Amino acid sequence: MDQILYKKALDFATFAHTGQRRLSGELYITHPMIVANTLKEWHLDDITVAAGLLHDSIEEGGAKREDIVKEFGEDVAKLVDGVTVVSHIHLTGSKSEEFVENSRKMFLVMARDLRVVLIKLADRLHNMQTLKYLTRQRQLRNAQETLEIHAPLAERLGMGEIKGQLEDLAFPYLYPEEFTKLKKDSQNLYKSAEKYIQDFKSKLLQLLLSKHVAAQIDVRRKHLYSLWRKLQRPEIDGDVHKIYDLFAARVLVSTVEDCYLALGAIHGAWHPVPYLGVSDFIANPKPNGYRSIHTKIFGSEGKIVEIQIRTHLMHEQAEMGLAAHWQYSEIKSKGKSPFASENKLPWVKQLVAWQKEMTSSQEYLDALKFDTLSHRNLVFSPVGDVYDLPHAATPIDYAYAVHTDLGNQAVGAKVNNKMVSLEHKLQNGDVVEIITDRKRTKPNLDWLKFVVTTVAKREIVKNSKS
Ligand code: MN
Repeated sequence: MDQILYKKALDFATFAHTGQRRLSGELYITHPMIVANTLKEWHLDDITVAAGLLHDSIEEGGAKREDIVKEFGEDVAKLVDGVTVVSHIHLTGSKSEEFVENSRKMFLVMARDLRVVLIKLADRLHNMQTLKYLTRQRQLRNAQETLEIHAPLAERLGMGEIKGQLEDLAFPYLYPEEFTKLKKDSQNLYKSAEKYIQDFKSKLLQLLLSKHVAAQIDVRRKHLYSLWRKLQRPEIDGDVHKIYDLFAARVLVSTVEDCYLALGAIHGAWHPVPYLGVSDFIANPKPNGYRSIHTKIFGSEGKIVEIQIRTHLMHEQAEMGLAAHWQYSEIKSKGKSPFASENKLPWVKQLVAWQKEMTSSQEYLDALKFDTLSHRNLVFSPVGDVYDLPHAATPIDYAYAVHTDLGNQAVGAKVNNKMVSLEHKLQNGDVVEIITDRKRTKPNLDWLKFVVTTVAKREIVKNSKS
């Protein structure tokens, strides 16, 4: 971290929050400092950490946007804007029309720069940790929003650990009785299960050593909210004794080859549980990018033990998802803008899928007739830049939305890597690539028959004359 930039941002934020306190009684600046620290722990870049320090300085403090631009540049200011916009959007409890519009707005801001999402998640994490100081009404609203929006978002982005933390923070506020009861009921089980897994861990370590597989073994404790949800499944029916993954052993090795060596050694020593089987998420990663091999074996006393096998790199990505991914893509593309890399796209596509699920989960939304926003599509450039186009927009509409020259020189288009005609109707989530001919300078007037955006119509008419 650039210490001069950090100090400058800290001083700026401290000044902007002069005289302000959090409801906890602490100086307000402690909040942006903790947010910035979380972003540092996630190994994010200096600009993001600086924006973390400044994220409330306009909205809650006395700073002005132009001062942030002057002192820290447009990039930092844009991140702060993004966080502010996202913070104003309340999805939970909003009416259906607003829900569609708001979820889209939030999604658009997030998709433009994914670092906004990370700052927002770090912000939410600290706000949830200090939720006890708020009024009951706000506690309920924030906890609900965390469960409905932020935790699924973290999950979608592959940030499993953050998802678990957010859910466990919201749990006691939304279901206080169930939380207290489960915590009490599960205490002894957790204790005995932990003793069991620690014994198992040393046996497993010896086994792998004897097979010359260098491994680190961690023990993963199931988050309480996730346990509670699992207990509600029909086949479990509230019986805590049917839960065999209160703890899981996590085997971390250096290479993919070692993952399979470890799996072989484990299945040689203990019987895998029939039917529950092995899941190989290395060969077949989950849609959010998660990779690991999961297996369940019979340990001593016939107890079922869950084992997850992965490389250190996969582990970091599984815990930190987007943030870890960001780190590696930055190293790879040193000097270039990390978000102008091909790595951005899978995450953006995840966001699209999530947003689709979120809106379609409310079936009645389909019935809305007057909602123009739901008739717009979000389409992506090959590097993941997002464009908001009306329903029935074509590759030509997209091209002119990106740049006039791209429209004028268009000769073909690919959608999701397949050639399509120029009048092809784009769908939400499509990745569009325009094939150009640099010698072309004028658009084709025939395009007017199918383009739908005003920009495309105007540019076609204007440029075909010159
Ligand atoms: Mn904040």
